[in-house]
Amino acid sequence: MLWHWMLLTLIGYFALAKLGVYATFVDQGIAVFWPPNAVVLVALLFNPVRHWLWILLMVVPAEIAADYGSFSIQQAFLFALVNVVESALAAALMKRFSAQGAVAFLNSLKQVALFAVFAMLLASGFAALLGALVYWYTAAGDISYFALWRIWWFGDGLGLLLITPLLLSWLGSQAGFPKENFPRLAMESLALFGLTLGLSILVFSNPYFLSNDFPLSPIILFPSVIWAAVRFGVRGASLMNLVIAMIAIYFTVHQAGPFARIDGAYATLQLQEYLAALALSSLGLAAMLQELNAKNASLHLLGRAIDAVDDGVLITNASSGRDYKILYANKSFQRITGYAVDKIIGANPRFLKSNLESGQAAYSKIRSALARDESAKVLLQNRRADGALYWNDLTISPVKDETGKTAYYIGLHRDVSELVQSKAELIRMQQTLKRVNAELEQKVVERTRALQDANDALTKLATTDALTGLSNRRHFFEVANNEVERARRYDRSMACLMLDIDHFKQINDRCGHAVGDRALIEFAQALNKGLRQEDIVARLGGEEFSVILPEQALEEAVATAERLCQQIARLRVATGLKTPQECEYLSFTVSIGVSVLRDDDASLEMLISRADNALYEAKKQGRNTVVSAK
Ligand code: GH3
Ligand code: MG
Ligand code: MG
Repeated sequence: MLWHWMLLTLIGYFALAKLGVYATFVDQGIAVFWPPNAVVLVALLFNPVRHWLWILLMVVPAEIAADYGSFSIQQAFLFALVNVVESALAAALMKRFSAQGAVAFLNSLKQVALFAVFAMLLASGFAALLGALVYWYTAAGDISYFALWRIWWFGDGLGLLLITPLLLSWLGSQAGFPKENFPRLAMESLALFGLTLGLSILVFSNPYFLSNDFPLSPIILFPSVIWAAVRFGVRGASLMNLVIAMIAIYFTVHQAGPFARIDGAYATLQLQEYLAALALSSLGLAAMLQELNAKNASLHLLGRAIDAVDDGVLITNASSGRDYKILYANKSFQRITGYAVDKIIGANPRFLKSNLESGQAAYSKIRSALARDESAKVLLQNRRADGALYWNDLTISPVKDETGKTAYYIGLHRDVSELVQSKAELIRMQQTLKRVNAELEQKVVERTRALQDANDALTKLATTDALTGLSNRRHFFEVANNEVERARRYDRSMACLMLDIDHFKQINDRCGHAVGDRALIEFAQALNKGLRQEDIVARLGGEEFSVILPEQALEEAVATAERLCQQIARLRVATGLKTPQECEYLSFTVSIGVSVLRDDDASLEMLISRADNALYEAKKQGRNTVVSAK
């Protein structure tokens, strides 16, 4: 919030201005360092430019209050203006050249260098020109303008150097040690602080018992700030710098320590030079280490991320001619290939080659793509450490160096064995399915045919007489009725024969039922042979048969019947039966009644009935004869 920053600027500026006055050599009036501008600089860096005017306004009352008693109001006002110019110039330059926010200031060596050039050299140096002018006109006794400029510049520069990093680092990010390391780091920081404090006091108070036997020089404090920089970053280094500076200034101002022995104004310059060197080198080191740590962390992250990738990752050298040495392999590469990562570093990845003929096309594809500096993606079989083959979906891409030359290759190895196998499996299954389908279709065809045959057989069974194969009674009536209708329609003649084997009972009685059956079969065959295709022959039951003779008038029908009668009488059936002897060959006769369709016939039954009567007549006449109905 803006008013927080305004208040901080007001109080901070006043307090640090007092500190600056305190750190002044009373006899020469030269401040060793001038720290309040650092508060203004930091407040500006943390705020947007539109707030700058309000923050800068705070400098005037703070300066006047701090200068009260030492300088007139006009002088204080002019000093405030010079300091406003210095802070604003430093902040503007730093902001202009740092893309990140205020938090990122002094996080890298480059930022420290920019800070040194912009704030300590340019802004302070320029403001010192104005400040020295104010001094020269309003206060100076016998000091030259050049000396005044130098005093102002060095004091302001050192003030910024000692305070700015401290405020930026402590305000910029969360203070405090990480929880898990807290006790250890707290102890270490206490030790560092105690050592620095003790050593500083020893060095700069320079007590009598030390001065001759242990000529401690201020250089001895370098390890302290380097320790702080290495272990606690910019925050630790800037804090230790301030501790050392305050103790050094205190004792030097009070005429003690190594710098106090040097003559007059020169002592101030020596002290400033010492503190600036200490602060700049430790800050630079701290910033550089922070930068390296951040880079290291991101590299570490990258390494862990690549290790977490499911594909094998292999990075090889490309620059040293044809020797593609492995520089890096991730864990997945080890998992897929079975080669331990530390065993293959420095080797050529050709140990993966299966040397199968089928892989040659893939290899030449890779070679030609890499020759053109392009990526190649191939599917090939490689060999694992145990000798087993696996399918490798491999992508190799060139990795360029800063000059744009291909320096490395990165290979992504994906084990697709399962995929390839399941694809082959799928094809096999499809083929099997096809075959089974064809078989099934064939079976359906066969089944249909069998059903058709069974159906035909059933139909035949339903329409024929099982013993003789002639039409049965039911079928006979069906067909005969059709014939009657047709004869009527075309006005054609039609005849009906009724046949009954003579004394058939005797055959059964003498030779057995089986011989009787045999006789019936032979009789049926004889009928069929003796008749035309279109004649309808049926067994009506027992040894009674009927024949429909289409388009035959009475005369023809009687002739047919007589011919049949004679044919039957001539028949000699070999029964295969030896006893009784008379049964070995069978002969029998038939009686036949003939009728023809008359116009007044109401139905087939009437036609049949007349033939029946004629048959009866034939039997009566002594059998083996033909009688036609009246
Ligand atoms: P007729 O000259 O008067 O016709 O004398 P018949 O002995 O033939 O007398 P009928 O026609 O009454 O006798 C029919 C006999 O035919 C009776 C029966 O035993 C016999 N028969 C009927 N069906 C069959 C058969 O399927 N097989 C055999 N073997 N005999 C049958
Ligand atoms: Mg009969
Ligand atoms: Mg009979």
